Amino acid sequence: MRQNIIISIIELIRGLAVTCWHLFVPSVTLQYPRQRWTVANRYRGLERLLLNEEGKERCVGCCLCARICPSRAIKIVTGEGEDYNKEVISFEIDIARCLFCGLCVEACPKNALTMTGEYELACYNRAGMIYTKEGLYKSPEVTKYKK
Ligand code: SF4
Ligand code: SF4
Repeated sequence: MRQNIIISIIELIRGLAVTCWHLFVPSVTLQYPRQRWTVANRYRGLERLLLNEEGKERCVGCCLCARICPSRAIKIVTGEGEDYNKEVISFEIDIARCLFCGLCVEACPKNALTMTGEYELACYNRAGMIYTKEGLYKSPEVTKYKK
């Protein structure tokens, strides 16, 4: 009985020592949303469509990104624009299906797609997960992933 009490007291002291030691160790808890993660350069977040140096769309609507996408998350509609050139009418990425694998970026022959460090993609409904062409051109500027 006495031996059990001694063991309990020793364990109690050891537990308190661990607690006291952690009082002086810096906290690893991130106070989200006031503090945010700085993601690594290789992080693959929301896709972004890019413009060329003249401010024109780089995407030529070849659909290679849509073809290589393993989850069929990309939908592209093309048509005939001015001067009978091919024009991208709509470009949508469904991020509910997207695996953020980066294959679309790798496949693009025009470097028109990139992935950003944006990870705050929560929304209230399914429709909010479909990023249109306009939205993809407005994705955060910071490019974290380049091929
Ligand atoms: S990152 Fe991968 S899953 Fe997402 S759209 Fe591109 S190819 Fe598809
Ligand atoms: S592969 Fe590039 S150029 Fe072709 S449709 Fe996709 S984003 Fe546009």
